[in-house]
Amino acid sequence: MSELKPSLMDYTQKELTKLVKPAFRAKQIYSWLYHNYASSYEDMKNIPKNLKEELSQKYIVNPLTIANKEESIDGTIKYLLELQDGKTMEAVWLKMKDEQLDCNGEVVQEAKYTICVSTQVGCKVGCTFCLTAKGGFTRDLSAGEIVAQVVTLKKDNNHKHNRKINIVYMGMGEPLDNLTNLTKAIEIFKEDEGLCISGKRQTVSTSGLSSKIDKLGEMDLGVHIAISLHAVDDKLRSELIPMNKAHNIQSIIDAVKRFPIDTRKRVMFEYLVIKGKNDDLDSAKKLVKLLTGIKAKVNLIYFNPYPGTDYDRPSREDMVSFQEYLIKHGLLCTIRDSKGIDISAACGQLKEKTKNEVI
Ligand code: SAH
Ligand code: SF4
Repeated sequence: MSELKPSLMDYTQKELTKLVKPAFRAKQIYSWLYHNYASSYEDMKNIPKNLKEELSQKYIVNPLTIANKEESIDGTIKYLLELQDGKTMEAVWLKMKDEQLDCNGEVVQEAKYTICVSTQVGCKVGCTFCLTAKGGFTRDLSAGEIVAQVVTLKKDNNHKHNRKINIVYMGMGEPLDNLTNLTKAIEIFKEDEGLCISGKRQTVSTSGLSSKIDKLGEMDLGVHIAISLHAVDDKLRSELIPMNKAHNIQSIIDAVKRFPIDTRKRVMFEYLVIKGKNDDLDSAKKLVKLLTGIKAKVNLIYFNPYPGTDYDRPSREDMVSFQEYLIKHGLLCTIRDSKGIDISAACGQLKEKTKNEVI
């Protein structure tokens, strides 16, 4: 197993300026990393050879390589990425909006993309419906390993550095369980001379570690949060998300109310719908009550089955009645269209598939 070196992507521009002298060289390297997506020192043409040699002793450029890739007909591309120690995790390239053409075929608006990133290899939370949880927890990702997912996917899709992109922390792992590296990555993404992705373009999805929601809020990074709620009573929620026993529904709702939210925005509540478990209108009614007083938006997600699971995908009719109930009672509610349904859609599924193919 190769030694784990820090990556140049582990540092903010200010930190890199302390590590690389003179300062203008740090600026050039930052540009190589985030404007030209350099993946090796050889790519950095205007950097002196001796400086590159010195840096290469201590730092790797990009800590990730693409191990596998699946492309869906809807434009979704799922990546299996390999880390320096041979461990793997996933990131997903999502096409949110097609490009708009005028009557002459000229592009009037470019297509819009979102990148879904992982924050850990595996996860400690252990949700009973989640494939990532089945493999247990391996390790946290460093800030550079989180940042490199966006650089690698933008590069692979020829997406120029100055084109806008959204980031959702919804891949493998619980972001708030890796708070230090998560917040460092958020800051590196925001760097003006780097990728320049503002906080409002970044959404942290959490299974509800309420004390850490407060900590993230106190840092005032300008990011959005999405809460994976999935159930309206603590009994069912604790069955689905064992950690709920320590961070119950009320503690999450209270933390959300304290979180600094852009007044024009809403907090997203994700609600994974499982047939016969939480797809009834009584649950919808309780959900409306629970979210009273919060500027909320609910995103209903179809449970995505995988071999060996005890849960089932809900019917379209039940999904739609649930949505209609929420809308009728004043909540904004969308049904997540299952992007990449023809590939290994839900988190953890490409990794699992590749493992099986190797075996
Ligand atoms: N750990 C964080 C973020 C990563 S999980 C969290 O739980 O919010 C990202 C999303 O994947 C969650 O909303 C989760 O509900 C969803 N997910 C996990 N397993 C799924 C499955 N089998 N089908 C559909 N969505 C799933
Ligand atoms: Fe972890 Fe999120 Fe999967 Fe739960 S749903 S096990 S928190 S990755």
